[in-house]
Amino acid sequence: MTDIPRSHPRYASLVARERVAEGVRRGYTSTQGLIAQGRGECFDYLIGERTTVAALEAIRAAAAMLLLAKRPALSVNGNVAALAAEEMVALAEALKIPLEVNLFHRSEERVKKIADLLRENGATKVLGEWPDAAVPGLDHARALATKGGIYDADVVLIPLEDGDRCEALVAMGKKVIAIDLNPLSRTAKKATVSIVDNIVRAVPLLTEQVRMLSGTPRAELEAMVREYDNQRVLREAVGEIQEHLKGQTEKSEE
Ligand code: ATP
Repeated sequence: MTDIPRSHPRYASLVARERVAEGVRRGYTSTQGLIAQGRGECFDYLIGERTTVAALEAIRAAAAMLLLAKRPALSVNGNVAALAAEEMVALAEALKIPLEVNLFHRSEERVKKIADLLRENGATKVLGEWPDAAVPGLDHARALATKGGIYDADVVLIPLEDGDRCEALVAMGKKVIAIDLNPLSRTAKKATVSIVDNIVRAVPLLTEQVRMLSGTPRAELEAMVREYDNQRVLREAVGEIQEHLKGQTEKSEE
């Protein structure tokens, strides 16, 4: 990978960009993934490259929802693998559940490369190489899922997912947790809990919350989920972007 000096003001962003490019070079991220990364960077810039209060609220509700789930599942695609393979393995470990490779631009070779990468990072169980079910309402390759994983999960975490698949999973009656920097995306609007944050920051915080809340009585977790209002949190995420932009334009006028 290109050597990026730590002193660079955009260090974290450049490292992430380099990781996605490396994912493409190694063949586990699609070239379209580079465009998704660019869109994400743009929204992260607008957000101020920080975890907002709205995102923290969503992360807490997501942790409660995952802990309450009977069969939670975690989805991994090419960008997720490039940016947060180790962090997703740590989350799966904290929840004691498998990870499932799930690709928009599916190729068996890419699925295998991502599954291998997750195993190299310590994953004990990875699904997705032998899908045996299909999510209704999606065309063939995008519909593929695994029984015992995403297909019959009651709660699914889908970082960096497209709106159609999010909608199809919600239509199956699942609770869907999205991680998406764009609060206006179809995914963010359709998900049950939308974490508007960079996956690189959000997944470690989610794992930390899962660990912190793991001894919490079910009734308290249920109350957290019940009281959570995704539409309000999305409005607040947009509000925090507006506040950040206002601060930036005021600074540039000084
Ligand atoms: P939708 O179909 O939901 O409207 P989209 O067409 O923008 O969304 P994609 O092109 O699949 O969906 O892009 C994936 C989404 O992931 C984008 O909304 C982008 O902002 C987001 N994204 C990209 N990189 C990151 C990241 N590092 N962390 C969180 N979100 C990201």
